[in-house]
Parts: sequence; structure tokens; C-alpha cells
Amino acid sequence: MLDLVKEKITIDISRLQEKPATMWRYIDSMPFKNNSTIWQEVTMGEGYTPLIILDHSEPNTLVKVDYMMPTLSFKDRGAAVLIAKAKEIGVTKVIADSSGNAGTSIAAYASRAGIACDIFLREGTSPKKIAQVKAHGANVRAINGTREDVAKAAQKAVNEEKIFYASHVYNPFFYEGTKTYAYEIWEQMKCAPDALIIPVGNGTLLLGAYYGFKELLENGLITKMPKLIAVQAENCAPLAKAFMNNETFEPVQNNGTIAEGIAIAAPARSVQILEAIHATNGEIITTTEEEIIQARITLAGKGFYVEPTTAANYAGYLKYNHSPSEKIVIPLCGAGIKLS
Ligand SMILES: *Cc1c(COP(=O)(O)O)cnc(C)c1O
Repeated sequence: MLDLVKEKITIDISRLQEKPATMWRYIDSMPFKNNSTIWQEVTMGEGYTPLIILDHSEPNTLVKVDYMMPTLSFKDRGAAVLIAKAKEIGVTKVIADSSGNAGTSIAAYASRAGIACDIFLREGTSPKKIAQVKAHGANVRAINGTREDVAKAAQKAVNEEKIFYASHVYNPFFYEGTKTYAYEIWEQMKCAPDALIIPVGNGTLLLGAYYGFKELLENGLITKMPKLIAVQAENCAPLAKAFMNNETFEPVQNNGTIAEGIAIAAPARSVQILEAIHATNGEIITTTEEEIIQARITLAGKGFYVEPTTAANYAGYLKYNHSPSEKIVIPLCGAGIKLS
């Protein structure tokens, strides 16, 4: 596992006005050289997604529409930064493994950057996601086994073939991208919300949001951290179990869930994820298959067509005990058409 040792980030708010209306408006907080323009060769306009009221009867609950991204999921935040970095250091080929959306996103940005790409996936991943990866010219390596077997196969290939590992889980540059989720919410609300509902499989959005709000706090731009309310599917909830029993995490069996994007039985950054939730006084909520299906229908009724993994976020919100005055942000992470 890699983490970046970074100097303190300084955010110059006065200059934000001049910046593009994409997540690259926060490039000064990312580990690129001053005035680096490498991102311009990679960007497809990702980020700065709408933050809007979900329902006028609950004015303090906002949704961040992160499915309005080039490849239709929030993974573009991380993939754009990771691939820009790979391009900067002269990488010509990358390997990644994914349950779907991260692979799609890495494949798209690699292709745009002129970098060859192999994506390891489970046999049985949504056909639409596989088609999306292939469309970008990536070489799909389907593995018969669990999500963990897929990761192992990718890591073996990385070592044997000596190829850059563009992993959204292990590569720290990915989180430099997902942290823009926090910066955008802060800029759009002009403050930090009280709580963030965040789906957790490998925790790339949760940790990114945590790092982002921490940097804002360190710069005195917010006065308190939002609570991180993590959501897992009951059928695959290793972190919920560890959190509830206040014990160290142990992998669980994945009993199968329609929320395929968070079905991670052994998240590699479990310790960091649990620490972040504790540090913000947060909690973990689990949702049943029935609740996820119902939540997807309810969201569609409000105009938002999301994939089941994203419906789990809303199902988690509905079970989150809060006062009506609490300002809450729910991410709509993945578009409905990614699955039928
Ligand atoms: C990847 C993904 C998640 C889960 O993110 P993690 O980084 O694995 O915690 C949730 N929803 C969607 C739509 C995703 O693509």
C-alpha cells in the first residue's frame, strides 16, 4: 500500500474564480508541478458536478450528481488524475483491476492519453460495463473467481510484466482526484455539510472526501469535519461488522448483492477507512437487497436514474437517524444505464 508524504496544501481562494469549471480548478492542491498543463491532454471536463436539493420537502438534503461524468461514475475524478500523473512520468502501459466502473474510467482516460491498458475483471461483470471498457480499446482479461482473485491476478501480471499498476485502491494518486469531491461540496455550499453519506467498497470516495475536508480544515476554510456515514450492502459488509464490534477487520464472504460496486469482501485500506469514520464521529449503515431495489425506484421517481450500487446510498440515508436541520450530502455515483 502506498501513501503520499505531502507538504501542507495551501489553498488560494482568490484565484478560484479564474479556474475552469471542472475538478481541475483545484489542481494546486494536487501533486503536480506548479503551472503543470499535463491535465489538459487528459481532461474530458470531469467534475464540478451539480449539487442540488433532492426533494423540496427536505431542503437540507442535497445530492451530488457524480454520474454526470464522462464515463458516468465518480471514478473519473481519480482516473483523470492517476492517468495524468502516469503520462507525466512517461508510462506507456497500465494494468488495473475493477468490479466495473473504475476499469471503465481507467480505460477511457488511458486511451485518451495514448497509454495502452489491460483491465482485469470478473467473468460475470455487467456486460454493459465490459462493453464500455472494450470500446476504449483496452484489453479485457476476464478472471474466473472472486473480486479478490481478480486483484491477485492483476498484481501478478504487474510484477511479471513490469507494468504500471493503475489501481484505484492502491495507487495514492487516485485519492488526489477523489478528494475534489470535498472541495466542490465546500465551494458549492460555502461551508462543510454536517454529514456525508458515502458508499464503501474499497473506500476511494470515502478516503478522498476525508482527505479533502481535512485539507480544508487545515486551511481554516471550514471549522469542523462532516460526519462520514458509510453505507455497505448487508450481503457484503466487512467494515460494518468490524465497526459495530469495535474490532479489527476480517474479510467476510460476499453473499452476492445487486450493489456490485460496493461488494468488496476484503478492502485493502480497511484500517484507514475505519479510522476516518471514527475520527469524524461517523457510523456505518447496512442496507438489504429489498431496500436497495426500493430506493432505486424512489430515486427514479424523483428524476434520478441510478445504478443499484448508488441506490444503496439513498437506502442508507433513509435509515440514517438525523434531525431535519442536519445538512446532508448524498452522492449519486453511477448512472442507471450502466446496468439494465
Ligand atoms: C466504485 C463505486 C462505488 C464504491 O467505491 P469504493 O471506492 O469501492 O468505495 C460506489 N458506487 C459506484 C457507482 C462506484 O462506481
